[in-house]
Amino acid sequence: MSKSIIITGGAGFIGSSVVREALRRNYEVVSVDKLTYAGNLDSLKSVADSTSFSFEQIDICDRVEIDRVLLKHRPCGILHLAAESHVDRSITGPGDFIKSNIEGTYTLLEASRHYVEEHGGDFKFHHVSTDEVYGDLEGVDDLFTEETSYAPSSPYSASKAASDHLVRAWGRTYQLPTVVTNCSNNYGPRHFPEKLIPHMILNALAAKPLPIYGDGCQIRDWLYVEDHAEALLTVFEKGASGETYNIGGHNEMKNIEVVHQLCDLLEELAGDIKPAGVAAYRDLITFVKDRPGHDVRYAIDASKIQKELGWVPRETFETGLRKTVQWYLENRDWWEAILNGSYRLERLG
Ligand code: NAD
Repeated sequence: MSKSIIITGGAGFIGSSVVREALRRNYEVVSVDKLTYAGNLDSLKSVADSTSFSFEQIDICDRVEIDRVLLKHRPCGILHLAAESHVDRSITGPGDFIKSNIEGTYTLLEASRHYVEEHGGDFKFHHVSTDEVYGDLEGVDDLFTEETSYAPSSPYSASKAASDHLVRAWGRTYQLPTVVTNCSNNYGPRHFPEKLIPHMILNALAAKPLPIYGDGCQIRDWLYVEDHAEALLTVFEKGASGETYNIGGHNEMKNIEVVHQLCDLLEELAGDIKPAGVAAYRDLITFVKDRPGHDVRYAIDASKIQKELGWVPRETFETGLRKTVQWYLENRDWWEAILNGSYRLERLG
């Protein structure tokens, strides 16, 4: 089997971690990414000089370009992460989510189908999705399993649900070898500053309010990004065609608890650079109007991937969050370039 792999969304938060994990496993990695506002070549700096790595700036909706890349690299599969991923943006502007997440996945599936029909060989289409497709959990003991019915609440989760259905249909109808993974909330280094954890860290360091939606009691299951990357390569290599695997961190936490832990870590690791006028980072917490359609609780049953493929997360929430805070403290250049807007101008202007 060829050891070349296409990773879409490779300049994003999770994608860049998956690129590093695939290189560690000796793949020839081709990262396909449009470089939207969320794509960041600085997240790939550590691998940019590797002879096993190449980057193609392409929109996944561009069939001609996807066909070209497939023929050029003849990969053993596609690990598909490219997507619009921020729920709040999907509420104010759903169009990009419909285009990239649904039409983009459709384009990749069609290109893969024709590629496999014409050129044969081993090939796997691995679609990376979210636990948000399952909607809200009701009982405190309930968990999402691979059999849970879909009930997406936001335009983001609806677009991901639609793309999951397309992938399964292409597997069933055209016998394209496909696998789907649905994962809980990720956190870790290189997370775009609009997401909860980096947003709170960077606001706290700038003495800005830490805005919590509603009462902050929404529960999420948190997984360290490098654990997710390992899980994805495990499924790509060992997952059975046609199957779905849930991936989770066994770390259920209320949003307000996450922010409290963050503030405590900042006291410990960044107490000496606390901005003037801030007595305690926790004092910056403010509660703001909840967002529409906000799901109360997500929690994953990840026993199938553990039993069948032997994957378990390495990090606890405490160890992963500590690494995350430390990374943001040590990598100011990365996030300051994003915050002052110079990054896109430099790369794309
Ligand atoms: P991200 O927003 O950080 O990165 C997305 C990447 O996709 C960016 O580099 C962007 O430039 C690229 N992209 C977007 N539209 C594109 C297009 N049309 N063509 C080519 N590239 C395009 O997202 P992330 O948090 O790294 O998430 C990656 C994937 O994992 C997504 O599919 C998301 O739904 C899924 N997921 C994320 C989480 C999470 O907590 N972040 C959890 C479960 C699943």
